[in-house]
This record gives sequence, structure tokens and C-alpha cells, in this order.
Amino acid sequence: MLDIVRIPALSDNYIWLARDSETGEAAVIDPAEAAPTLAKAEELGWEISQILNTHWHPDHVGGNAEIKDATGCKVTGPKGEEEKIVAIDRAVVEGDRVAIGSAKGRVIDVPGHTAGHNAYYFEGAGKDGEGVLFCGDTLFAMGCGRLFEGTPAQMHDSLAKLAGLPTDTKVYCAHEYTQANGRFALTAEPENEAIRRRQDQVIAMRERGEATVPTTIGAELDTNPFVRASDAEELGRRRDAKDSFSG
Ligand SMILES: [Zn+2]
Repeated sequence: MLDIVRIPALSDNYIWLARDSETGEAAVIDPAEAAPTLAKAEELGWEISQILNTHWHPDHVGGNAEIKDATGCKVTGPKGEEEKIVAIDRAVVEGDRVAIGSAKGRVIDVPGHTAGHNAYYFEGAGKDGEGVLFCGDTLFAMGCGRLFEGTPAQMHDSLAKLAGLPTDTKVYCAHEYTQANGRFALTAEPENEAIRRRQDQVIAMRERGEATVPTTIGAELDTNPFVRASDAEELGRRRDAKDSFSG
């Protein structure tokens, strides 16, 4: 089982620190910055033995070198972005196995936001036996990543892979974008009552200073206009509209 701690970083990033309760091994996923990561690990008494990166963007690998220097940990990242992942030791592709102690995971290729973006899925590793997904900037609560290096068709396929995971899977995405995503989702699907209810909850949570992540696959199937897009064209239209949305 994984104990998972959220570390807010930069303006709206979340770094995830995950520790296997059986072996005590800990991993950090997408360390935007080293200092808050090392401070939190020290506070908890957790020893970081590895970094898992979902993609090369600086707000996901910015802490790699310093954390590796401080802990001697190993860095795993996507094969398609091997040259851009700072201090990488192991490059992985779809289907490769990863592990945090006794928690066994696998790599899912999810191109679209970047060309080599991957996600890490740990079946049954949650505290109630649910799956745990670290998906970087591919799937967000009520949103998806911008298409910097990929096509709408690629993002549609990537989201479909993630949407096919069990509905109770906990989704640990890398940013707190939910409220702005919800504002757009309401314009994309104005008749969707589930989005309206969720956005009301999100507004209340943010007013209380609470995080809205992790989400679940089930919640995204009900409220995410990109997951719900019927095809790549609709996803592309919605992504274009979101890119210029200022609501
Ligand atoms: Zn990114």
C-alpha cells in the first residue's frame, strides 16, 4: 500500500511523495523543486530511493539533480524524452514495470501534452485497494494538458487509455487547475448537472484553501469534457476553445 503526500510547489504544481508501507521505500513523482521535497521527506522520516518523471517540462524535473545528489536516488522517465530528463538513469516505455517497494506499477504511454509523456499506474496500491495513477500533465480534474507536442488524436487515445482504468482509481495529477477547468467545462457542457454540482464543491473547497486533487477516473468520466469528447475532432475543438478561454 502507498501512503501518498502532496507537496505544493511553484505557483500551482503538486509534487507527490509516495511511500510503500510494507518496505518503507519512498519515491517522488515529478519534483518541480528539490527544497520542499527534501524538507517534507525529512519531516516524515521518509528516505527517497527514486524519482519518477512523467515528462520533461522543467516544472516536473526541476528538482531531479539536487534530490539525486542529496539522496543517491535513481531517476526513471519516459524513453521518448530521455535526452531531456535531467539525471535520468532508466528510460521506460509502455508496459515496462516499475515498483515502489512492494507496490507494483506499470508504464502507460500517454503522448499529447509532450511527445513522450508517460503515466505510472499502481494497481491496488491505494489504501482501500483502489488503483493509484500518477499522470503528470495528461489528465487533470475536469481538464487535460495543452497539446504542446502532440495532436488531438493522440490526446484522445491517451485519455481513453486512462479512462479505461477502474473507476475508483485515484488520479494524482500535477497541477491545481480544477476551478478554472470547471469554469470551462460548464461552457463545454452547459446541460451537464454533474459538472455543475462538482464545480460548486470545488469553489467551496478552494475557498477553504483545500486541494481538489487527487480525483478519480469515475469523477472524470462524469465531468471532464476532454475525457467525454466523442472523438478526436471534438476533443481538438474543445482544446482550442479552452486555450483561448478567459472565463
Ligand atoms: Zn507539462
